[in-house]
Amino acid sequence: MKPAAFDYIRADNTEQACELLARVEDARILAGGQSLMAVLNMRLAQPGLLVDISRVASLSQISVTQGHLQVGAAVTQAALEWRPDLAQELPLLKQALPWISHFQIRNRGTVCGSIAHADPSAELPLCLLALKGRVLLRSAKARRELAAEDFFTGMLTTARAADELVEAVRFPLVRPGQGFGFREFSRRHGDFAICAVAAVADAAGLRVAVGGVADRPIAREWPLLEGSALDDALNELAWGLDARDDAHMSAAARRHLVRRLGRQAIEEARNSR
Ligand SMILES: Cc1cc2nc3c(=O)[nH]c(=O)nc-3n(C[C@H](O)[C@H](O)[C@H](O)COP(=O)(O)OP(=O)(O)OC[C@H]3O[C@@H](n4cnc5c(N)ncnc54)[C@H](O)[C@@H]3O)c2cc1C
Repeated sequence: MKPAAFDYIRADNTEQACELLARVEDARILAGGQSLMAVLNMRLAQPGLLVDISRVASLSQISVTQGHLQVGAAVTQAALEWRPDLAQELPLLKQALPWISHFQIRNRGTVCGSIAHADPSAELPLCLLALKGRVLLRSAKARRELAAEDFFTGMLTTARAADELVEAVRFPLVRPGQGFGFREFSRRHGDFAICAVAAVADAAGLRVAVGGVADRPIAREWPLLEGSALDDALNELAWGLDARDDAHMSAAARRHLVRRLGRQAIEEARNSR
């Protein structure tokens, strides 16, 4: 299928992009187009205007600021993946990024586009939540910042208002004593996750986030649980995610993946501290 007709403007700067979002009611941001074009081709959305931000220089920056790695809206997943210091700065992202589809998709798809799209099976929303990252939103009138926990509100749904641009996201840099683990199960390499788990361990305890099971990534914090106490916590988490049977897998198998991948990711996080 072909998309319905739309107007297209390539924004020269962030102000122009925000101005267009404020002025044109049915305008949508076009970043890498790796999710949006499929949505348009299937006519699941029919925006009147696409505002292309992919060549806005000020949105193409990755910077270290106040203990965070800040990633601008036009930065591709590949640019982040191949940042020379990423393994030292954000080991969890270094592990998770190669799981996003194939390199051709990561060459076009943006980090912020994945966050804005909010697919419950996507790796970047999961990591942002696991790391307690933040989303920087900007409209023609104001700026605000939301914790990942408050940003993802449901299936492909976020707290972003229609006239807001996700200007950047912030991932907290690794701190001494932290360890990270990531596990994913998908049908074939490069497919969206059927279940993915990201774990962060430090001296105080564990933070575990699960994607692909509920309508959005979900995180829990626990003390440093061991043995059957950890099994019980993972089992409770697995049942709490409201897994559903679908064409890919039964709810029971998804709960099994949460327990199994959860334990593996936690062990990896503990061992890498
Ligand atoms: C074959 C295939 C396989 C894939 N597999 C995976 C996978 O395994 N894991 C995974 O995580 N992803 C996967 N993806 C999705 C891919 O990662 C997308 O690139 C990503 O989800 C969206 O980023 P984008 O830059 O392409 O955004 P676009 O497609 O341009 O936009 C997506 C949506 O977000 C909005 N948007 C984008 N940027 C902003 C912004 N800055 N502010 C406000 N709104 C914005 C757009 O208006 C649109 O609604 C796959 C895609 C394809 C085509």
